[in-house]
Amino acid sequence: MIEGVNKQICSRCIYDDTIPYITFNHEGVCNYCLQYDELNLMYPTGEKGMEYLRQLAATIKEEQKNKKYDVVVGVSGGTDSSYMMYLAKEVLGLRVLAAHFDNTWNSKTAVENIRCVTEKLGIDLYTHVVDNEEYSDIFHSFLKASVPDIDTPSDLALATVHYMACRKFGVKYIFEGHSFRTEGISPHGWFYMDAKYIESVQKKFGSKKIKSLPSLWMSSWLKWIVVDKIKKIRPLYYLDYNKEAVKDFLTATYGWQYYGGHHMENRTAYFTNNYWLPKKFGYDLRYCEFSALVRSGQWTRETALEEIKKEKPFDPQILQEIYKRLGLTEAGFAGLMALPNKSYRDYKTYKKTFERLRWFFYILVKANLVPLSFYLKYTKSYDQ
Ligand SMILES: [Zn+2]
Repeated sequence: MIEGVNKQICSRCIYDDTIPYITFNHEGVCNYCLQYDELNLMYPTGEKGMEYLRQLAATIKEEQKNKKYDVVVGVSGGTDSSYMMYLAKEVLGLRVLAAHFDNTWNSKTAVENIRCVTEKLGIDLYTHVVDNEEYSDIFHSFLKASVPDIDTPSDLALATVHYMACRKFGVKYIFEGHSFRTEGISPHGWFYMDAKYIESVQKKFGSKKIKSLPSLWMSSWLKWIVVDKIKKIRPLYYLDYNKEAVKDFLTATYGWQYYGGHHMENRTAYFTNNYWLPKKFGYDLRYCEFSALVRSGQWTRETALEEIKKEKPFDPQILQEIYKRLGLTEAGFAGLMALPNKSYRDYKTYKKTFERLRWFFYILVKANLVPLSFYLKYTKSYDQ
């Protein structure tokens, strides 16, 4: 993305005009930076942010007082979700149930991290493991579909598992470890996920029925948010969250280990971000991450522009594992890489339904039942 002639780069972050739907204002600042500023105003940090979180914790405790747990925290063994367990339990005094979706491609470090942090904090763990052959078949289907969203089945399953844990124990709150200040806002059109999408790809390319992979069907999702009123909260939005400092803290306090990079706690996520996306689609997620660090003042723009020039690390052993588990030859895999690139628009999805129900989701956003990011990304039409 950095090569090319006459390329405009945002004067504040490192997004350039190859990023979909980017626009620049008269000062050369991109719309993603302006969106960041809006979020920054909406979610104050420091004392104000902490006060909000304490009040929220008090409300949650009152509401959940007759239940075993106050909150479900989704965990992956990564930095953000491990910190989230500490925050919920030790800082906010909540009774935490950790929920994990195991797509059978976890790294050993991630598994060990989940174990040591939950054990040391005395947190119960709810895990859903997908059948590994079923998952391999679905993953293979997404490679055949030739879309960027090959990790969508996992991403959506883990969101579903959070709701399943809530339903089982009568919990109304889910804490998610996302931070727009460190992870950034991925460009519109890069990624898409919904249950119908997964089903249609699997129907077209797969050989197995979806049985053990949890799916967020629109009917169950709406029931969980509208009837059961299960709310998703992103507490990191209210914190001055410095990832480097948090990593050191987790290692020193819980024996947690760094797994060597964002999304590297899971091997399909690693393959997606470090091979499939950059090599096949030219998407480099470091643009989002580094731009976020620049916007939040954790990095200078110069550092980000230097760092992005470095080759993205990739451990070729992961390819051998993929060949083996998916029953692929090297030539077969090369064939998948060479297929014409497609997108979710080439398959059946809920997208048009989400767009038609934009007004309805707006009401749900106002009632804090649906995240604003969902509304902005999924209910807006980007076809024109
Ligand atoms: Zn920008």
